[in-house]
Amino acid sequence: MTASALSVHTGVLDKAARGERLNAAEIEALYHLPLPDVAAVAHGLRLQRRDPQLVSFLIDRNINYTNICNVGCNFCAFYRTRRQGDSYTLDHGQISHKIRELEEVGGTRILLQGGVNPELGLDYYIGLLRHVKANHPTIRIDAFSPEEVLFMEKTFGLSLDDLLDTLIGAGLDGLPGAGGEILEDDVRARAAPARIRSDDWFRIIDAAQRKGLYTISTMVIGFGETYAQRTAHLLKIREQQDHANASYAGNGFSGFAMWTLQTEHTRLHGKAPGATAHEYLQQLAIARIALDNVPNIQASWPAQGFKVAQAALYYGANDLGSTMLEENVVSAAAGHDRHSATVRELIRSAVDAGFIPVIRNSRFEIIERPDVEAYLQRTAANPEAERAVGAV
Ligand code: SF4
Repeated sequence: MTASALSVHTGVLDKAARGERLNAAEIEALYHLPLPDVAAVAHGLRLQRRDPQLVSFLIDRNINYTNICNVGCNFCAFYRTRRQGDSYTLDHGQISHKIRELEEVGGTRILLQGGVNPELGLDYYIGLLRHVKANHPTIRIDAFSPEEVLFMEKTFGLSLDDLLDTLIGAGLDGLPGAGGEILEDDVRARAAPARIRSDDWFRIIDAAQRKGLYTISTMVIGFGETYAQRTAHLLKIREQQDHANASYAGNGFSGFAMWTLQTEHTRLHGKAPGATAHEYLQQLAIARIALDNVPNIQASWPAQGFKVAQAALYYGANDLGSTMLEENVVSAAAGHDRHSATVRELIRSAVDAGFIPVIRNSRFEIIERPDVEAYLQRTAANPEAERAVGAV
């Protein structure tokens, strides 16, 4: 490294370590610095910004109420057309059955998302939310991506405000930030020509935050995007968070979740570079540094596996996401069959990495300190213990 490069290196990292906000050029410079140095700063900030001893996770279930979708993203192996034999739309009984399984393991939240199914009317969505609230009152409903909301807005003749008020009145608690990928339209147009554009994504998220709904920010890397585009993505999230904190009494993004593009069984297979574990950990560390106003950074086990997710706890992450119990969208393109994590697996990941695991709700509030010893002592006679960390 030349003397001038070394001084840029130490200058940017020193500034970040002091907790000062980095500009676009400084964030982009981080991609060219040695990862151990960037990771050390990111982990230091994580220890300052969140409880240094704790790693949290959520017990929840993904429920994909339909796999019929007319958006047809090139990176998606989950969606089907109506005519395909394995297309489906779940009815209330099927959804209740899945929620009862979640209730049995102490879960508190469902992530209810689908494809964009043109055959569903507003009454389906309202009926679904009302049914869940009436029959499962302890379960929070975080539902619908901005893509699904955009479809409803265009189709049902309601303004965005009226639509969200209608959904909230029926039981909606949160609007997860799925579909973020890279919020730069050049990247989005290549990966999914019909995908929701970044302006609409932020318009819908902003309305949700204004109405007090839970939201989370997301990012997917590996489309072949440039470092400048990744930086622009992070800056847009940071700007929205500043706006929400100032205007909506702090109701901005509760956290940031990031994973790498999975292309198995998709049209992008062999055409997009994807991202290695090194790139994933680098991007996570840079996100922790750049997003100085987003408190919680999640490690992603569904795309990265438990071992890399565990390492991510030293690259800026303070949270292991959630059990999911049934994840269909990322795993359909991931080339593996892991759809869920057990509570024991997430506890063991946190404990072995040197942290105290805590169970949270979707707002990242701690709701339980699990009996770690009891979980870890479970034997192979217990199905939960059969899938030891990294064994599958
Ligand atoms: S990612 Fe979502 S919107 Fe895109 S095709 Fe798949 S289900 Fe449809």
